[in-house]
Amino acid sequence: MGARNCQRSCIHIKSDGGRCRANASTGSPFCFFHDPRQAQARAAARRAGGIQRTRKATTLPVDAPDRPVTNAADIFGLMAKTINEVRHGQLQPKAGYVIGYLASVALKAAEQSALEARLAELEAVVKTQLTDIGLEPGIGTEQFAFEFVNQKVEDSDHEQQR
Ligand SMILES: [Zn+2]
Repeated sequence: MGARNCQRSCIHIKSDGGRCRANASTGSPFCFFHDPRQAQARAAARRAGGIQRTRKATTLPVDAPDRPVTNAADIFGLMAKTINEVRHGQLQPKAGYVIGYLASVALKAAEQSALEARLAELEAVVKTQLTDIGLEPGIGTEQFAFEFVNQKVEDSDHEQQR
């Protein structure tokens, strides 16, 4: 008896009537694929394979174009895209979470820079008005302007009382 004949074959009969030609597992008359006791292990192996195949992308391709994130509209657009990518399983939820966090930082920075731009505009308007009433904008001018405006308010209050 040769070594080949010592190895038992699986006793499973296939749908075409032929016998499974795979080697039986140790301690079983069946091979791994036909052993009813291995059903759970086979299901786990299939799940693992399925998970491997559908693993979500963590990052975009290197040549993917950058998205602008300079204002709220840009950031809303990016968020809408990211939300849908996560929903469709095209992006790992973990990556979506990080993008969401960074977008919230970008949104705060955009709001801050919009406020700074408005403040600069207001300062320019105040300087123009100070110049118009014959004051040179500079150190101490803000205090003077504050008192000047207060005086105007008091004057108008007195006028109203009369
Ligand atoms: Zn078999």
